[in-house]
Amino acid sequence: RGSMTVGELAKLLHKDASEVIKKLIFLGVMATINQELDIETIQLVASEFKVEEVEVKIPVEEDDFETVEEKDEEESLVSRAPVVTIMGHVDHGKTTLLDAIRSTNVTSGEAGGITQHIGAYQVEINQKKITFLDTPGHEAFTMMRARGAEVTDITIIVVAADDGVMPQTVEAINHAKAAKVPIIVAVNKIDKPDANPDTIKQELTKYELVPEEWGGDTIFVNVSAKQRTNLEELLEMILLVAEVNDYKANPNKRARGTVLEAELDKGKGPVARVLVQHGTLKIGDAFVAGNTFGRVRAMINDKGRRLKEADPSTPVEITGLTEVPQAGDPFMVFEDERKARAISERRSIKQRQSEMGANSRVTLDDLYKHI
Ligand code: GDP
Ligand code: MG
Repeated sequence: RGSMTVGELAKLLHKDASEVIKKLIFLGVMATINQELDIETIQLVASEFKVEEVEVKIPVEEDDFETVEEKDEEESLVSRAPVVTIMGHVDHGKTTLLDAIRSTNVTSGEAGGITQHIGAYQVEINQKKITFLDTPGHEAFTMMRARGAEVTDITIIVVAADDGVMPQTVEAINHAKAAKVPIIVAVNKIDKPDANPDTIKQELTKYELVPEEWGGDTIFVNVSAKQRTNLEELLEMILLVAEVNDYKANPNKRARGTVLEAELDKGKGPVARVLVQHGTLKIGDAFVAGNTFGRVRAMINDKGRRLKEADPSTPVEITGLTEVPQAGDPFMVFEDERKARAISERRSIKQRQSEMGANSRVTLDDLYKHI
């Protein structure tokens, strides 16, 4: 029919009719909600609302995060430390266990270093390293997964022996299963007089976690995080699972990983705690983290030591960012700062577009269809 009413146009633009009327007044057209508008006027209003601009498609470059394929020749892969997350119901002892493992396992060479909270830490046992993510609980894990970050190799599910399988225990099991991550059950608080580890085992069979002695294949370790009982055994079991799964990465390429945490530090500026997952991160590397970019100015590990390089499975705190990225953001090194800046800008635009949502994405074509 070659026209539409003010009300119809407003609806298509996902605007209030009053906003459209205001624009029309601005354009010198006095109109009511039921007034028919001609094509020229519709175009004018649409361009006033920047309809075209919304639809600009940003070409995704070959080397953007999502499109980079990790193709490593088998020969280039080297064993790396397993990355472990501790999950379980509130008060079952996750934090105590994380702290106990960290403090019992400071290797002699690193003794004296000041423990730094960098989102993850590494321990060494039998000359092998294990990386623990520092943030217990489900939010971190769920959030990371929601953002597409797969950082965990093994999940420890902590269940208090004096309590039992609780809602968050089940949630943790479901998360680990969804992520197809092997589970080790740490039955905690066995020092308590009313501890009953066998009841826990029994309850967990309902969730297909059956101990080896009952014919299943789930590793159970009875521990006391508080009294530091059997922690070494727990670590050995982690190494066993790691050996079976043979986690590897190629250290000889540009680094790639995930932001575990980030914040604005008063002294240092924006800092990011990053888990390196592929390649080796070096001082001076230009990188993109989420929508922001930078150049690695300094790196410290969980013992407060300054590092020049960080290889796969190493958590590091880096400075040299231009802005604060978000936890779960992908991290990737590029050949130079110009490239990194360009990629981060493109990612910002893409994010802005998706935030505007499908709702506001109206093209002139869409409008014409309705005229
Ligand atoms: P989270 O909520 O899972 O992080 O649990 P916490 O680590 O904060 O522990 C909750 C409470 O249980 C604290 O009071 C701990 O001291 C206590 N707790 C943790 N592990 C043990 C343990 O092995 N034995 C005993 N008796 N208490 C423990
Ligand atoms: Mg806690």
